[in-house]
Amino acid sequence: MASSPTVLMRLVASAYSIAQKAGTIVRRVIAEGDLGIIEKTCATDLQTKADRLVQVSICSSLARKFPKLTIIGEEDLPPEDVDQELIEDGQWEEILKQPCPSQYSAIKEEDLVVWVDPLDGTKEYTEGLLDNVTVLIGIAYEGKAIAGVINQPYYNYQNNENQKLREPRNDAKAGPDAVLGRTIWGILGLGAFGFQLKEVPAGKHIITTTRSHDNQLVRDCVTAMNPDDVLRVGGAGNKIIQLIEGKASAYVFASPGCKKWDTCAPEVILHAVGGKLTDIHGNALQYNKEVKHMNSAGVLATLRNYDYYASRVPQSVKNALVP
Ligand code: AMP
Ligand code: MG
Ligand code: MG
Repeated sequence: MASSPTVLMRLVASAYSIAQKAGTIVRRVIAEGDLGIIEKTCATDLQTKADRLVQVSICSSLARKFPKLTIIGEEDLPPEDVDQELIEDGQWEEILKQPCPSQYSAIKEEDLVVWVDPLDGTKEYTEGLLDNVTVLIGIAYEGKAIAGVINQPYYNYQNNENQKLREPRNDAKAGPDAVLGRTIWGILGLGAFGFQLKEVPAGKHIITTTRSHDNQLVRDCVTAMNPDDVLRVGGAGNKIIQLIEGKASAYVFASPGCKKWDTCAPEVILHAVGGKLTDIHGNALQYNKEVKHMNSAGVLATLRNYDYYASRVPQSVKNALVP
């Protein structure tokens, strides 16, 4: 007899549909032309109308279906009545057909913490670097990131710049002819889906790092890795996608600035395919609801050869970054 899906599988299936809706909102705000940009702490720490609408959409949609969840979203927004149009009630049926890893089958709603980055790569979004943008929904249990969904609203954007693009269909396939946008999801112990895993050629050290939040520590750390190439792009989600699609071999960010909502979902996708994400000292990140939001000791992530990169982090960089 088929048993009914577990809380975790229902939550991930809902998060998938909610992230897809988020992607449509991110595209709609650009299409309407008014980004409503607000500076949060400084000129490189921005919030747009899309960050605001998507946060309300994700958090309200999740809370209606799963009222006992702890949901932590990036944006600080005043409470207001939620426009029904922002609510997504669907769940992705393909996910409900998958088996829940046995270690998570008894999880209750109130045991889960959801970390929401409604729009990762906001600075790049405001500058038209739209393929850098992702929507991140990460799910943690007992302090560990265990499931995640990443929507990339402008996947295929550069490939199809001169074409008229359609909204994504449910059966969208990646590739040059694909529709705009995609959703990647994963659960530890089950795997990660929605992309083709690819590795950087053996022996090549290609570092991906920040474009908008650079500083001397970040540069010192990247230089010490002796890279063949350095890619400077926006977004934590985007950089993890580069790792799993063979565009970069390590994501190096030796600075505070990145938060738990930036790393939770991407970490799961990377870990589900055998990669590793830690702080710059090699410590695992914690995602329980009481944890401080800032990843004060930076981020080091690789698909393979983690030890090569970890062993090259300079002591001076480690000394400067206190966990
Ligand atoms: P980046 O690689 O610069 O795109 O950063 C990845 C994520 O961390 C994005 O969500 C950034 O907004 C955030 N982030 C990194 N450094 C900072 C900073 N100095 N101030 C604010 N946000 C930051
Ligand atoms: Mg972010
Ligand atoms: Mg954000």
